[in-house]
Amino acid sequence: MSESDTSRHFLRQWIEKDVADGKTGGKVVTRFPPEPNGYIHIGHAKAVCVDFGMAELFDGECHLRLDDTNPTKESDEYAENIKKDIRWLGFQWSGEGDAGEPGFYNASNMFDKMYEIAEELIRRGQAYCCNLTQDEWKQYRGVPEKPGTPSPSRDTSPERNLQIFHEMRDGKYADGEWCLRAKIDMASPNIHFRDPVIYRIRHVSHYHLGDKWCVYPMYDFAHPIEDALEGVTHSMCTLEFEVHRPLYDWVVDRMDEQGLLPVRNGVKIRTQQREFARLNITYTVMSKRLLLQLVTEGHVAGWDDPRMPTVCGMRRRGYTPGAIREFCARVGVSKFESESDPALLEWCVREELNQTATRRMAVLDPVKVVVDNWERGMGNGERVTREVELPNNPLDESAGTRKIPFGGEIWIDRADFMEVPEKKFFRMAPGQEVRLRGACIFKCTGCVKDESGKVVEIHGTWDPESWGGNAADGRKVKGTIHWVDCATGVKAEVRLYDRLFTEKDPLKDGPSEFLKYMNPDSLKVVEAYVEPALAEAKGLDRFQFERTGYFVADEFDSKPGAPVFNRTVTLKDSYKPSV
Ligand code: ATP
Ligand code: MG
Repeated sequence: MSESDTSRHFLRQWIEKDVADGKTGGKVVTRFPPEPNGYIHIGHAKAVCVDFGMAELFDGECHLRLDDTNPTKESDEYAENIKKDIRWLGFQWSGEGDAGEPGFYNASNMFDKMYEIAEELIRRGQAYCCNLTQDEWKQYRGVPEKPGTPSPSRDTSPERNLQIFHEMRDGKYADGEWCLRAKIDMASPNIHFRDPVIYRIRHVSHYHLGDKWCVYPMYDFAHPIEDALEGVTHSMCTLEFEVHRPLYDWVVDRMDEQGLLPVRNGVKIRTQQREFARLNITYTVMSKRLLLQLVTEGHVAGWDDPRMPTVCGMRRRGYTPGAIREFCARVGVSKFESESDPALLEWCVREELNQTATRRMAVLDPVKVVVDNWERGMGNGERVTREVELPNNPLDESAGTRKIPFGGEIWIDRADFMEVPEKKFFRMAPGQEVRLRGACIFKCTGCVKDESGKVVEIHGTWDPESWGGNAADGRKVKGTIHWVDCATGVKAEVRLYDRLFTEKDPLKDGPSEFLKYMNPDSLKVVEAYVEPALAEAKGLDRFQFERTGYFVADEFDSKPGAPVFNRTVTLKDSYKPSV
């Protein structure tokens, strides 16, 4: 299965049928409606893939609509980054747009229209102002098993209601003093249908409109209006909105009565909502509120910390848009809540990087090796430098090769040496031969230790008949290790990232307790030596450090001559996807 092989899930079948039945007026229109109150995370990426993906599949358009009806906590910084992240994932909004940019909408640009629709509901006796307190309102609404109690204001005349609604708008009342409710059915078993609140008073400034409004529409009222006015045909959202769907339809019906539904190619466009399961991932939290807490309390370095499940964090970690889309495709679209293993996402990343990442050598935990019999120049007696030529990507010949100097003193990874080798340890050990990748066969003769017994230098000799890595007499050498030349290697900061939480469900003891499950070892910074070709690595260049893992040059901190790398994923994992 691959990304392009979009399975025929229920949303796709639903849209196919509507297209066949001529309900779309010739154009499928979807939308992705984030609230600009945080950065988008991998869960949103799934919705992005569904919303934009379905529009692409049917040659339609997907709008990007900022759902900015909740005046607090929203900002342009968030809005700009949402755009950046969607583009990076490989999608582009299209359509008319309401803010001078094709396909881009702000829900707040529809506030005037929403208010007018509410006024018309009042005139038609379909909405009324209510001054029950929050507690009373809940009590009156009741429980699903028994009909609720009507508000004492339920039968106020439209004239009086309009007067109060205008006074609400004009700032005469305090927050919560009055609200506007749809007059639907106080006996409905669906309590969302029991005269839901559709407008409330909030004396707060809006990040775009300032103090223009002190009444704001509720989500359940605003969302269908936005969809309908934009000519959306298929409005897809997560499962928790399923019980709100009758209300969505009620609002669309009222707009129809008011003659507000758009017509495309002679077809009246009646937006419809369907719901799919959220993406949940183990070993992380995804609610924007908790992610914000991680940022503001300094548990991570920011929204784009490579350990965050945000799209910008994953970008900085070195994940690719293709791997994220592939992951979303593999998780699929369904009606059932489930949890996905982050190992599947890592697997998708590894699959792609294995094909595309540039191969390099880097030593993360260096110890020096001296080749005692290395050639010295005739004139000055200095060590000769030879050059090794290695492919940039053995799976892609067009990636070419690079030359790496080798001067008889190298760094190797500490773990590649054992003074007293275990059984089957075929790497470097006294008396044992090992291949230095691309260079030669080396035989260790011993090591130097400090007072604490730590190995500080390893010595040995090379077989001058083995340049390139193979013995002239054809004898076999089992182990091959990577290395970095001491004279020309470059120092680099390498950040080793691991999961942010040690617990599968960090919320198992509730949202106030999740911090105690943070992984204390989720970040380890080491000073490494890397081959000279990595000196100029710049932001988001992706590499496989041979035998070590996949790494990316840090988007912000990597500087020419002073590279910084983030570990994207380790080289291997036992994980195998089931499909
Ligand atoms: P959070 O709960 O993290 O604050 P949200 O649902 O409030 O997220 P919105 O900005 O309102 O965030 O979401 C925009 C769109 O993304 C919505 O259509 C929402 O259903 C969808 N979405 C959010 N989280 C997920 C998820 N985990 N899986 C799939 N879709 C999601
Ligand atoms: Mg939301």
